[in-house]
Amino acid sequence: MTSLRYQLGDTGPAIAEIRSKLTQLGLLDDTAPGPETFDEDVDRAVRHFQQERGLTVTGTVDATTYRVLDEARWRLGDRLLSYVVTNPQAGDDVIALQRRLSELGFDVGRVDGVFGTRTGDAVRQFQRNVGIPADGTCGPSTFKALGRLAPIVTGGRPDNLRASEALRQAGKRLPGKVVVIDPGHGGADRGNSGDGFDEASVVEDLAARIEGRLTATGVQTYLTRGPGAEASPTESERAAFANDTDANLLISLHVDAHDNPEASGVATYYYGGHQPGTTSAIGEQFAGLVQREVVARTDLVDCRSHGKTWDLLRHARMAAVRIELGYLTNEGDAARLADPDFRDVVAEAVVIAIQRVYLPSSEDAATGALRIHDLATH
Ligand SMILES: [Zn+2]
Repeated sequence: MTSLRYQLGDTGPAIAEIRSKLTQLGLLDDTAPGPETFDEDVDRAVRHFQQERGLTVTGTVDATTYRVLDEARWRLGDRLLSYVVTNPQAGDDVIALQRRLSELGFDVGRVDGVFGTRTGDAVRQFQRNVGIPADGTCGPSTFKALGRLAPIVTGGRPDNLRASEALRQAGKRLPGKVVVIDPGHGGADRGNSGDGFDEASVVEDLAARIEGRLTATGVQTYLTRGPGAEASPTESERAAFANDTDANLLISLHVDAHDNPEASGVATYYYGGHQPGTTSAIGEQFAGLVQREVVARTDLVDCRSHGKTWDLLRHARMAAVRIELGYLTNEGDAARLADPDFRDVVAEAVVIAIQRVYLPSSEDAATGALRIHDLATH
């Protein structure tokens, strides 16, 4: 990815293009094309767009924001859709297609706006069902057939219902479950830094503590990067790694930083944007459990759980959570993070949250009540 970056004060033809995209989305009202300045109005529109799309709100158009801006312009029927191995199609039209197929009872996996193999299979199945050539490509006849049929699935999102059912069937026993732990930084990539230590050292150590506890309960664990590994995978590569392991859950570990030393607390993130039908209900549940267990067992400020469309969350097929465990730039949080006992408490909170994902509601305990020896290990 190039270091694409446009912000307040920039000028040029690229800005004119960004303005026209924002106008198309109704976020800016340029009546005549041509303005080439990234002004206050553009800044506001970009922030608004980032907010509603689950991106980090910066007001800067970076590569990710640019890509999502571009994906947002597609309406179902605007272009042919099919599975392209090398460069899968992505956009709002793919979200519309996945939602439609899902309502009609076809399994597209999660509604993520990326035309992958599973979406292609669902399209072929749909085409066979309505008696049109099953080539997996959505063209005019497929769009027409999609528009004609009334939804057969009502009362809940089929993709989420399927995911909950799979979870229920997995049972509460931990042995045999597969969890991927993602230390967000390591090697040459040190992440955020604070007074005397950095994000990579915290998340690598925390990953080891979580891994040790999970392994002791019989959970199969994988790390997206081994201790001491130099390579720094991208968010999508980390998600792809987790997908390859067929993991049930993915937890990505980070520590935050801020210019304002007052900023403090723990937040968790799951896959979700503003478009209806895209939030991962299981991800939201898992993030809520991690959030509540960590808050109940520590004195970190509760910055709550939020839906985001970051690549790791978007591309992971399993319930995925990213935790931002405190701020290295906050004196109180940094002191906690430096304390091995604190890290143990957090590791325990994460393991308990993982167990609670699988507990039927009749057996679920109050937040903060379960201990490691309560886990269903056999
Ligand atoms: Zn980080």
